[in-house]
Order: sequence, then C-alpha cells, then structure tokens
Amino acid sequence: MVSQVVIVGASLAGVRCAEALRRHGHEGPITLLGAESHRPYDRPPLSKQFLAGVAARDRLWLGRVDTALSDQDIIHHPGVTATSLNLNTRTVHTTGDSFAFDSLVIATGTSVRRLPHADAAPVFTLRTLDDAEALAPRLIDGARVVVVGAGFIGAEVASTARAKGCDVTVVEAAPVPLERQLGEAMGTACAALHERNGTRLIVGIGVASIEADGVHLADGSVIGADVVVVGIGVVPNTGWLVGSGVAVTDGVLCDATCQVVDTEHRVVEGVFACGDVARWPNDRYGEVMRIEHWTNAVEMAEHAAQTVLGGTEPFTPVPYFWSDQYSTKIQFLGRSTAFDEVRVVEGDPAAGVGVALYRKGDLLVGALGLNRIKALMGYRPLLVDGATWATALDHAGVAT
Ligand code: FAD
Repeated sequence: MVSQVVIVGASLAGVRCAEALRRHGHEGPITLLGAESHRPYDRPPLSKQFLAGVAARDRLWLGRVDTALSDQDIIHHPGVTATSLNLNTRTVHTTGDSFAFDSLVIATGTSVRRLPHADAAPVFTLRTLDDAEALAPRLIDGARVVVVGAGFIGAEVASTARAKGCDVTVVEAAPVPLERQLGEAMGTACAALHERNGTRLIVGIGVASIEADGVHLADGSVIGADVVVVGIGVVPNTGWLVGSGVAVTDGVLCDATCQVVDTEHRVVEGVFACGDVARWPNDRYGEVMRIEHWTNAVEMAEHAAQTVLGGTEPFTPVPYFWSDQYSTKIQFLGRSTAFDEVRVVEGDPAAGVGVALYRKGDLLVGALGLNRIKALMGYRPLLVDGATWATALDHAGVAT
C-alpha cells in the first residue's frame, strides 16, 4: 500500500517537509493543508523589504512553490483550517473535508499574542502577509508610530518605520530588551541601535491600555500615536489538537526524532511535528526547546521528513537566527540561556559592530555577531564540535 502523508500547516516547515519527503523517495500522496488563502510564502521579508516597500508579493513566495508543489505531486489546499484530530480513525477534520492519513506532520507554527484592552485604536500586529499589507500603507513619512515590545519583530518594525520617515517610539516592559535571548550586556548593545537611529526607547514600563489618543503607560503617561504595532511574542497554534491525546505544553511535544508523544509521553505512531510549533529534547544541550526561527523550521522539517521515512536519528541542531535592524545584521549561533560569561572578542557590539562569545563551564555555547557575518559563521564548526572555551578564544586570537 502507498502511504498517505497529510501535513497541517502550509508555510515554511510544512512546505519544506513535503518537498523533503519527495526528494527522499516518498511515492505516496502528500496533502498540504493551510489555513491561509495565499500560496505559501516566506515571513522574514514581511518586517523588512516588504514593509519597506522594496519587495512586492511575488518576491515572498517560497521558491516557485505552486509550480514546484504540483510538479512534485504535492496537493496544496489553501484556506483549509484543521479543527480536530482523531487518532483512532487517523483523520484530520477541517473547516472543509476530512483527511485520512497514514502519517501526519504537524507544522502549524504560531500566532501573535494580543494585548487585552487594545480595541480602541488602529492596532496592528505582524505575523502574516495580510498583517503586513494592512500595516505597510500606514507607515508614511511623519506618522507617529508606537511599537509595543522590543523583541526581534518589534525592533525590525521600528527600524523599517524609521527608514520610511516615521516618528518611532518603542515601549518595552522589561528593563533590558532581548535579555532572555542575548543576556543583559548584549541585549543592551542591540537596544542601543534604536536610539542611535533616532527611535525613542522606553523600557521597564508596561502598557495600561491603547486608546484612540495613543498608548497609555502604567505610570499614567500617554504616547500619542497614529499607528500602534504590538509585538509581544507568539503562541503555538495547538488549539485544534485539544482532546486528541497529543501532548501539548507550549507547543506540540515530540521525542528527540521529531515524533509526537501523547500525554503519557508515549510515541504516537505515525505523527510528527516540526517548525515553530514543535518542542523537542535537543540532546546536544540536554534541553527541551521550541525555537521560533527560520533556520530551525527548515532543518527540523528536513529531519521530520527523514523520521517519517523510517529514520531514527535525533535532531540535534546548533540553533541559529538573524535579524536585520537599521543597517545592522544581528546573528546568533548556539544557546544563550544560563551562560556563565559573555566576552567581546572582536569590535564593539555596543557600538554596533563586533563578535561576542558565550561560555558555560569550560565550553563555548554561543556566538553573537553584529555586522560580522563571515567572522560569526567561523564559530559554527566549533559549536557543532562542542569546542572548549580555550579553543574558541584561540580561534578568536584572544588570550584566555
Ligand atoms: P509558520 O510560518 O507560523 O506557519 C504555520 C502555518 O500553519 C501558517 O500558515 C498558519 O496559517 C498555518 N496553520 C495554523 N494553524 C492551522 C490549522 N489549524 N490548520 C491549517 N493550517 C494552520 N526568523 C529568523 O530566523 N530571522 C528573521 O529575520 C525572521 N524574521 C521574521 C519576520 C516576521 C515578520 C515573522 C512573522 C517571522 C520571522 N522569522 C524570522 C521567523 C520565521 O519566519 C519562522 O520561524 C517560520 O515562519 C516558522 O515556520 P513554520 O512553518 O514553523 O510556522
């Protein structure tokens, strides 16, 4: 019998998984279900070139994907939302038809977290092409833009809005933006990009409400706004799995190979997950993680496809992400959680250019680059090999 693969989520992870299945020899039907009505597209340009108006829709599509998908006999159903999963009948129920599967790949990604009490003013978020198309025309010269949240998406929106001549203020509840991702010193270094580029940054104060006159802060002050963009993180799209037996805790729980587990932590035969929605134990770090970045979605989709086809290898990536803010490319390799030391080994990240390394015990665990693409990538093999701190400093040409 030729086995039927159903993939729920027709974005980066879903499409890449479908293509990898074909590339690795799966001959049965592949059905790709996607809630959005568009052909699959790439999200990173939404906050950058697309919002800036320098890339049109046709630059967003994932490859020449519609042609490529049908050429590969991958059937894409746009505008179809999965509503429930029945593991007994091995069926995905949707807003339209129901789809039986032999193997199921869950790639439903995330949706933006919303602020309560934010209905009175034009409040935007940015996750989808529709979001970007609604926001882009509002970012006009002189518009007063308030961005709530100084995470990567908020910072990129602020940067693009500044480039379009907007008067931009970023409000962040935490005392140091990006501290969770980069640590205090490097979070501060990246946040400095805002003020250096003419964006006001207000930290350590929450938003009380968003009203027609602007953003009301917890201390009673009001920042006048024509446009408010809320970028306060995302939540995994797992609502449709409630009651299915699949374990869901801030994402779909998987084993180390990308196979989904149930609420008793037993593998659910023939069900897999990848991308932003998936949480799995990364044996390289002895840590259960869920990663919301492009490269992980690509690599995990490829790995999940191999597991669908019988592979048993654990997925043990060195995580990587980038962010483009103002004229600076921020890149990070590895892990920055619970490090013991961060050391600048090149340039001066606080001035917008340089490399910093992260140590845990006597190991190199992470590397941050600001406008240092080649130098940063030089640390990748070291991180893959689990290099010692001394080896990393030697590579950097810095004394221990
Ligand atoms: P998603 O892209 O979230 O796709 C999931 C898809 O599943 C969506 O199309 C959704 O509609 C669909 N879906 C959800 N529920 C259902 C359902 N029940 N039934 C059917 N379909 C469903 N990463 C970086 O590393 N660097 C960057 O510079 C960067 N920039 C970004 C800029 C923006 C504006 C955004 C939004 C993200 C950015 N990212 C970046 C993150 C990167 O785009 C994501 O990691 C990536 O899109 C994850 O892909 P995914 O397929 O797992 O999930």
